Amino acid sequence: MSEFVRSAVVTGASTGIGRACVEKFVAEGWQVFAGVRKAEDGERLKAEIGEAVIPLIFDVTDGEAVARAGEYVREALMGSTLGALVNNAGIAVAGPLLHLPVEEMEKQMDVNVTGQLRAVQAFAPLLGADRELSGPPGRIVNISSVAGFSANPLLTPYSCSKFAMEAFTQGLRRELIMYGIDVVAINPGPIATPIWDKAEAMDAEQYAGTDYIGAIRRILGYMLERGRSGMPASKVADAVWTAITAKRPKLNTVITPEPFTQFLLGALPGRMSDRLITKRLGLTPEALAKTAK
Ligand code: NAD
Repeated sequence: MSEFVRSAVVTGASTGIGRACVEKFVAEGWQVFAGVRKAEDGERLKAEIGEAVIPLIFDVTDGEAVARAGEYVREALMGSTLGALVNNAGIAVAGPLLHLPVEEMEKQMDVNVTGQLRAVQAFAPLLGADRELSGPPGRIVNISSVAGFSANPLLTPYSCSKFAMEAFTQGLRRELIMYGIDVVAINPGPIATPIWDKAEAMDAEQYAGTDYIGAIRRILGYMLERGRSGMPASKVADAVWTAITAKRPKLNTVITPEPFTQFLLGALPGRMSDRLITKRLGLTPEALAKTAK
């Protein structure tokens, strides 16, 4: 018998929310197969969190590597089911749709959407869709976002991926009900993680000379500021833990330091939200008229 309560796979475990989930699961006595892209990140997690961490090296865009990781976990579980899959790996692509290089949208969707599909195909059999395995079925928790309900201009590629994640979650849940595998989403607002610093690395100046450059600089500033003042990743990990262990988990759990803004965005008529958001970013006809042609 394993010394662990159960086992989970967490994708994108090297930093931020993924890492916080690994810490939480291990603290609760679980073994965690931690998906990372670099071997040294896996070793670091193991050294810092403990022997219950088993690194799995894969990029979610590499189907063969993800499938190999699935086989590795199957062997390690020796005929038992996996307790949970946390689909967390993700990137945030920003840029105005009129000028965004198409490859950037493809990359966004490949990592945040198709990447989750690859992970589901590799690990969902182990959650109990493979009926040869013994043990209770596991659950899937998808780390979506509040951006899965409302799209901010210039962050539309990211929102596209998270809206898609909502459909993916709902459809997958309905496809896996027959196996007793539940599928839910967590929808964080701003959380203090390195994803925001990566936004700083984005080359906003590629949009210099377009009508969007001022708004892009502004939105990158907001992203950095909101990210740094965001909630700790451990709050999301706590919500993931509840989603895994509650008898009847919520289908969507929103975690945000800005619940009122979130409520307003959902409650206001769409055109009124459009006006508020575009005014804040300087994306109105009046603002455009003040700039040179
Ligand atoms: P992060 O940058 O710290 O973590 C992202 C993780 O995904 C990293 O471990 C990274 O290595 C991994 N990753 C990126 N591309 C990958 C790929 N191709 N293959 C495998 N792994 C890959 O940021 P985070 O904020 O912890 O993000 C985790 C998830 O939370 C993402 O899906 C993100 O969209 C979501 N989220 C974050 C926030 C926030 O404010 N930070 C809010 C809502 C949702």
